Amino acid sequence: VSDAPALDLAVLGSGNAFAGTGNGPSRTPARCWSGFVLNGRYMFDAPPTALYGMKKMGLAVERIDTILISHFHADHFFGLPFLLLEYAYQTRRSTDLTIVGPPGIEDRVRRLTEIGYQNLLPRLEGFQLRFREVEDGCEGEVNGLRFSAIQVDHGGPEMRSFGFRAGVDGRTVAYTGDSRYCPQLLDLGRSVDVLVTDCTYARGFDQPEHMSLDEVRELYERLGGGTNLLLTHLGGDVDVSNMRCATVAEDGGRYRY
Ligand SMILES: [Zn+2]
Ligand SMILES: [Zn+2]
Repeated sequence: VSDAPALDLAVLGSGNAFAGTGNGPSRTPARCWSGFVLNGRYMFDAPPTALYGMKKMGLAVERIDTILISHFHADHFFGLPFLLLEYAYQTRRSTDLTIVGPPGIEDRVRRLTEIGYQNLLPRLEGFQLRFREVEDGCEGEVNGLRFSAIQVDHGGPEMRSFGFRAGVDGRTVAYTGDSRYCPQLLDLGRSVDVLVTDCTYARGFDQPEHMSLDEVRELYERLGGGTNLLLTHLGGDVDVSNMRCATVAEDGGRYRY
């Protein structure tokens, strides 16, 4: 086993749909919407500020060859038209781009892009745009990333939301996407090197749509400990001073496991 960290997570954004703050005047700094890049090439969710986040961090935009979309809420996939615009006019790419996501992913992305930038899609040259739909429990491999998708509990019955497990170079990262506390997360987070988890609320149980730090702590204990936690999709301040395993993600932060 090499000592070199195999997982390099670059956090594009760490906030919830409300940009990381509660309503009213807040002392909490705003956060960009959530998403991260694994090992410089695998993007997990494409928040509206994904392109900004990559450029701000100095990541090579053309190295992204795989984008995994957890669900169709705007804070998780409205960044795609800007990325495609970049590839049409600013940063030419020659490798294909695969977008993995819930059923309907191709139609959604094409419609969204057409609304934002008319006739952009036919102008993409030099590479193929590919789509891969996931179903609950499906496994696949794309561009060297082995992944599985697990449907989680978020957004009601019409919204199909997924978490992902992904393995690269013998290490495993799990990402909850958006989810309330539910049993599927035990399968998702089992024996991973790092669990990137929704931690929208500072405290409380049985929270709607998303998890609180109390629920993340319970999940961690039910997973048997030993997993690193990277908390994201934050809706305000969370205090992890008594949780050695947990790190609060910051916009532009770089985390290695
Ligand atoms: Zn969200
Ligand atoms: Zn959501």
